[in-house]
Amino acid sequence: MLKLGIIGYPLEHTLSPVMHNAALQYLNINGSYKTYEVKENELEKLFCYLRDSGVKGFNVTIPYKTTIIKFLDKLTERAELVQAVNTVTFQGEGKSVGDNTDIVGFWEAIPDNFKKKVPKASVSLIGAGGAAHAVSIALLLNKVDSLKIYARNSEKLSGFEEFLESRKQKLNLKTKIQVDLLKNIDLSEADLLVNTTPVGMFPDIDKSPVTKEELKRLPQGSLIYDLIYNPKQTLLLVTAASLGLNTLSGIEMLIRQGASSLGIWTQQKDAPLGVMRLAVEQSFEHIYS
Ligand code: NAP
Repeated sequence: MLKLGIIGYPLEHTLSPVMHNAALQYLNINGSYKTYEVKENELEKLFCYLRDSGVKGFNVTIPYKTTIIKFLDKLTERAELVQAVNTVTFQGEGKSVGDNTDIVGFWEAIPDNFKKKVPKASVSLIGAGGAAHAVSIALLLNKVDSLKIYARNSEKLSGFEEFLESRKQKLNLKTKIQVDLLKNIDLSEADLLVNTTPVGMFPDIDKSPVTKEELKRLPQGSLIYDLIYNPKQTLLLVTAASLGLNTLSGIEMLIRQGASSLGIWTQQKDAPLGVMRLAVEQSFEHIYS
């Protein structure tokens, strides 16, 4: 029996169980994916319980993607780069490995024609939290030409800039890195705009991290990628689409990072993306009906 799960707090709205259980069923794998909602003072106890009870692996979500690292035996190279883990796997004798599939989930969701443009692209990213770290590592690993970070907190912004400069050196890249406060945002040169803040997420669906006027400055042909997956079409995406810009919802990243974690646990290359997408979309119908 393949025992899997997710740890975080809170977990009541997570779509991961529905997506993974649908995939396990489709693949005819005798297994289950459960939620483990845990407060920080119980995290170590839960980790030991999962390790000792034959669980193969688990996902890690807010707020433990960094905290979990101290319990792990090893990190993959990409998890080391981002210093955050969303996938833990137990190997022989309870040895644990931490990986980060948000990086590949973010990247694989991007349509191929945009992926090709990234080495010559200017990318603007809003936010400086956990998702922003994974997204920027994905962009650096794919040799983005220029990366502009906008956030509201100047201290976090300079910490993030230091992090990016250190990764740029480690990866021996020439990427141009700039940071600025969100109130100074200028999108006139952005080929790709990525929102990594929760602004616009359910229930605050009438909010957007940038105004329509700011979006109007984007070059035609640019792509607006919102990591939020609930709602599927955020105000940011709806406004961008009304201006004739290309849009991408966080749903696809959610599915791709899940598929990649499942691939690690099952050692199967091809996770059933269609089945996972359908399971997520059906849960949305359920939420909104
Ligand atoms: P996080 O670590 O808490 O970071 C959130 C970032 O957003 C911080 O920089 C925060 O700024 C900023 N922020 C929050 N409220 C803001 C506001 N009103 N105005 C401007 N900036 C604001 O969270 P996270 O893990 O990065 O997650 C962020 C979002 O990405 C969530 O909506 C999450 O659901 C989504 N996400 C999606 C996927 C996917 O698979 N699609 C994967 C990961 C995350 P301060 O530091 O100043 O508070």
